[in-house]
Amino acid sequence: MSARILIVDDIAANRILQQARLAAAFYQTVLAADGASCLKIAQRERPDLVLLDLGLPDISGLEVLQRLRRNPACRDIPVIALTSTGGAAERLAAFAAGADDVMDHPANERVLLARLRNLLRLKAESDFPAPDALAFPGLAEAPAGFEPQGTIALVTPPHMPGQGLRDALAGQLRDRLVVLSRREALAELAAGKGCTAVPEVFVLQDDGRNPSSTLRLLSELKSHQATRHAAVCVVGPAGAGDEAAMAFDLGADDAVGPGVTAEELVLRTRGLLRRKRHFDQLRARMQDGLRLAMRDPLTGLYNRRYAVPQLASIADRARAEGSPFAVMVMDLDRFKQVNDVHGHAAGDQVLVEVAHRLTVNLRETDVLARIGGEEFLVILPRTGMAMARRVAERLCQMMDDQPIRLASGEELRVTVSIGVAVAGTAGEESFGVEGLVEQADIALLESKGAGRNQVTFRLSAA
Ligand code: GH3
Ligand code: MG
Ligand code: MG
Repeated sequence: MSARILIVDDIAANRILQQARLAAAFYQTVLAADGASCLKIAQRERPDLVLLDLGLPDISGLEVLQRLRRNPACRDIPVIALTSTGGAAERLAAFAAGADDVMDHPANERVLLARLRNLLRLKAESDFPAPDALAFPGLAEAPAGFEPQGTIALVTPPHMPGQGLRDALAGQLRDRLVVLSRREALAELAAGKGCTAVPEVFVLQDDGRNPSSTLRLLSELKSHQATRHAAVCVVGPAGAGDEAAMAFDLGADDAVGPGVTAEELVLRTRGLLRRKRHFDQLRARMQDGLRLAMRDPLTGLYNRRYAVPQLASIADRARAEGSPFAVMVMDLDRFKQVNDVHGHAAGDQVLVEVAHRLTVNLRETDVLARIGGEEFLVILPRTGMAMARRVAERLCQMMDDQPIRLASGEELRVTVSIGVAVAGTAGEESFGVEGLVEQADIALLESKGAGRNQVTFRLSAA
């Protein structure tokens, strides 16, 4: 579905012109002629982005921005503010009030559309893993709170030591500023050593002599492993007009023309830093989520959900290679008694210890998972009957030989029963994954029936 843009402008002709341009770019539009209807529509319809003219007849545009940012239903909607006065003070105030960008009215259409795509992409990425937990931060100053110092790299073009910009930034930025030539920026990346900490924000200074080399550097930074999550801002002629549009489409997080004031650049840079950290947090949270989704919290082993697709892909690989593989199902013997006699916490300790012993006694390439309360699955790639037998018997023996010491100091003899199925042995055609686990389960039941603390084998049946 195409994104919905709320156009706020008191002049009907402006609204209609914007609407036509956005419709031509396949956006849906909603129109508002004043601040009050903007707030109402934003709250009710949650547009994907707001294009806000700052000169409104009823409520000032800055006030509208502040109210949007205070409202939990609207505070993560990206806002591009449009100023007709073009005054530096109004621009700064708009950033401070929470605008994601401030552009002169009427805006360069290509730059505006590129900026829209950029902000909508950021918003979509931000919405995906945790829609409500972490609000999408605009460039507004964060509410009072501790923000650790960041590292900002100013990358200067050849023939231009960047003194002016460096002094301007160094004077006002409270983050660490490193100044790098382009060559240094790329060489450090290529060598993989980077500055002690990879800069979180790169400010690419362009002097207008060769904008395409500035844009090339931008693409390099955005595609390089070490820097692709850093924010990049293009400053100078390459940050204005058609080059700015290109910069956004190449992944720039911000682009500003040569006339930007030091105050505004500092505000923008801090906003980029904050947003970059926000995305780092989202990524970390998503990775945690992925890890949790495939791990058993008690033992840290993989769970069944992870193991089953692994089994399928190991079977595929085995078939392609013509190599055998084994599946082992292991169940603790009379484990209910451990809980009954020593308590559930002791039972948990036993499970953790068993998981640990299995982990250290298997190969890196084996897949070990806890697939039930006291039941484990082991997949052994490139393992034939003889090796599977050795491994299973060794595990069974090891459990029997070494009692488990509980936190109470008591020692407990814990034994396991094991069922093993091997696929791909001579003459075996079937690699049916489910059939294989079933065979191992049947073998496990046979081990239990025959007195426990032993291993039983099945060749994978037809
Ligand atoms: P068998 O030798 O036939 O396997 O007997 P068993 O007692 O091990 O088998 P049963 O399936 O009757 O009991 C399994 C017990 O495992 C029951 C359940 O309370 C316990 N259990 C399952 N998950 C956990 C867990 O996470 N922690 C603890 N402490 N116990 C668990
Ligand atoms: Mg059991
Ligand atoms: Mg059981």
